[in-house]
Amino acid sequence: MGRLSPSPADRASIAERLLAWYERRHRALPWRESRNPYRIWISEVMLQQTRVETVRPYYERFVRELPTVEALARAPLDRVLKLWEGLGYYARARHLHRAAQIVVERHGGRVPAERKELLELPGIGPYTAGAIASIAYGRDEPVLDGNVRRVLCRLAYITSDPRVPQTERRLEALACGLLPPGRAGDFNQALMELGSTVCTPRRPRCSVCPVAGLCEAQRRGDPEALPIGSPKRTRPHHEVAVGLIWKDGELLLAKRPSKGLLGGLWELPGGKRRPSEALPECVRREVREELGIEVEVDEELTVVRHGYSHLSVTIHAFRCRWRAGAPQALGCQEWVWAKPRELSRYAFPRATQKILAVALDRHEERQEKDEQDELQQEE
Ligand code: SF4
Repeated sequence: MGRLSPSPADRASIAERLLAWYERRHRALPWRESRNPYRIWISEVMLQQTRVETVRPYYERFVRELPTVEALARAPLDRVLKLWEGLGYYARARHLHRAAQIVVERHGGRVPAERKELLELPGIGPYTAGAIASIAYGRDEPVLDGNVRRVLCRLAYITSDPRVPQTERRLEALACGLLPPGRAGDFNQALMELGSTVCTPRRPRCSVCPVAGLCEAQRRGDPEALPIGSPKRTRPHHEVAVGLIWKDGELLLAKRPSKGLLGGLWELPGGKRRPSEALPECVRREVREELGIEVEVDEELTVVRHGYSHLSVTIHAFRCRWRAGAPQALGCQEWVWAKPRELSRYAFPRATQKILAVALDRHEERQEKDEQDELQQEE
């Protein structure tokens, strides 16, 4: 492992420069307006795997509608998922909701300050625990996220993969060693801010970096080569077929099981195509297995491609007509017939939202055409 440790004097200098830079240059973000532990917790969970600009409107709406831990704990999960709709990684919302209930039950509604207690809450790992403890409570706790790992690897010229436990421990020790006592909250935010705005994965802007003179990777002239990463794995791809099942002007929706990918969200019934299975047959089979009803499959309405962190899908959406049977929740949590105007009540994955937008347009066109046909017949 190629690595160099900054000397104690350099460590102090790195901390000092970063804090001064952060004081002058940090972006004004809504979650930085207070040290409210609940708000910091919400923002840190939303920011996992998600860009700041995407999070901003979600965060503002979430804390406006659910301003306290108690409000979040009391809210139905469906409402929390609706507020999260489109942000992705929905397990974060489910864990946040459950964790808020535990905070109310065990801690009287006060978000814990201790790392150990924070780590006992669902959805809180070492990074989020360190962020809440340091930013909200001023504890001397380090944080390691992707941005911080990159900055530290470059500063100390760490040339082994940060995902290897040995390297992770080395990075933790380095992050702890750099922390200026009593200023951990600002220092951690400064490191994260530096990673997301200056020490970026590609083309780091060393010429404007406050710690440039103290950075080994910059001194050696190859910061972009770090951190070392494993080659990207190819994501499996699935063909999926879903049905837009209409009956008396209402659309059939199914709620996904509460755990797993997109757990607790509403979607159109359907699923993965089996090898060599025709798409319409896939819809009929999946709908039968999921809801116990028979449908007639009409035209293919639209095709949507979507990528998740670990797989990608092509979803073929078919217009269907209900033929027989009363829906039962066989492979879903629950089901509902919903009028088009009621759809905004439900939380849908982004891919389903895209399909529904097309389906509703077509539905309106069809209705208009039916009305015109009726008028013509009357004339
Ligand atoms: Fe990153 Fe360059 Fe700053 Fe080093 S000098 S921390 S490589 S931006």
